[in-house]
Amino acid sequence: MDCLFCKIVGGEIPARKIFEDEQSIAFYDLHPQAPVHVLVVPRKHFSSLAQIDNSSEGEALLGHLLGVVNKIAVAQKLTYGFRTVINTGVDGGQTVNHLHLHLLAGRAMEWPPG
Ligand code: 5GP
Ligand code: ZN
Repeated sequence: MDCLFCKIVGGEIPARKIFEDEQSIAFYDLHPQAPVHVLVVPRKHFSSLAQIDNSSEGEALLGHLLGVVNKIAVAQKLTYGFRTVINTGVDGGQTVNHLHLHLLAGRAMEWPPG
């Protein structure tokens, strides 16, 4: 499958990894939108959040990925806070079709997002 993040998971394309475990990896975004911009990605390919069903496995995976965001926030001492974003589909602004969570921090975020 021609998927950029599957290639990063498989080590075919390099990335600045910050965390990994058996279910996920996290690495710095190539085009950071904040001083800290990390992507948390499941090792298993799901094209988007919309592809995760409401099975206990699906919900456990989503919970795990959010927990990874939190772990990174603690490890990076993001005590002023952070933003977590999941872009889904065309209107959601998703550009890479492999589920990922953005962790953005290091500046005050604006609301609403564009
Ligand atoms: P999306 O727009 O799908 O929510 O987020 C995709 C993200 O992947 C973007 O923030 C983009 O900068 C990032 N990205 C695209 N290509 C690469 C790459 O080759 N390496 C890394 N580390 N990030 C990438
Ligand atoms: Zn993939």
